[in-house]
Amino acid sequence: MVRVGVIGLQGDVSEHIDAAKEALNNLGSSGEVIWLRKPEGLEGISAIIIPGGESTTISRLMMKNGLFEPVRKLGEEGLPIMGTCAGLIMLSKEVVGATPEQKFLGLLDVRVNRNAYGRQVDSFEAPVKLAFSDEPFTGVFIRAPRILKLLSPKVKPIAWLSNRVIGVEQDNLIGLEFHPELTDDTRVHEYFLGKIL
Ligand code: GLN
Repeated sequence: MVRVGVIGLQGDVSEHIDAAKEALNNLGSSGEVIWLRKPEGLEGISAIIIPGGESTTISRLMMKNGLFEPVRKLGEEGLPIMGTCAGLIMLSKEVVGATPEQKFLGLLDVRVNRNAYGRQVDSFEAPVKLAFSDEPFTGVFIRAPRILKLLSPKVKPIAWLSNRVIGVEQDNLIGLEFHPELTDDTRVHEYFLGKIL
């Protein structure tokens, strides 16, 4: 049975849990979705979601709770991980605007700017184009990071706002600037969870 874990230390955890449950249901899977707080929760895990929130806090709490290194290793070994917003920052190899104590998993070959949109436009919704669907998706952006550069040919764009890349996939990893868990639309979660079904 598949077991999806949402890193549940800070951020919009329950929204991701609900979206992942619904996505599994829509895909005809009876898998479970768990709130991941401790390394013990990683046992038998099939996929991980790192939610949006505040990346400095998520980084600090993942280290404090002993999740940082085991999650990094699982990602390196090929376990599917999706990071949204702060979760994208956590996955990234290079982060502009990071605080000195902030550590990143460094798995996804992208450079992101942590607080790219500035105060004036710190939150907005806009139609996003997805590589795996014909219909637009409502992208919810909240103090979103911005993907500045794809650092290797392994990174494939999978989401665009106008012509700008706002979502990427690299083998087992997905990183998105926006929050798919804050809409009722589970297409992105279904695409991600298709990797384990
Ligand atoms: N800018 C935030 C950070 O650095 C991320 C915002 C979000 O996840 N909504 O963590």
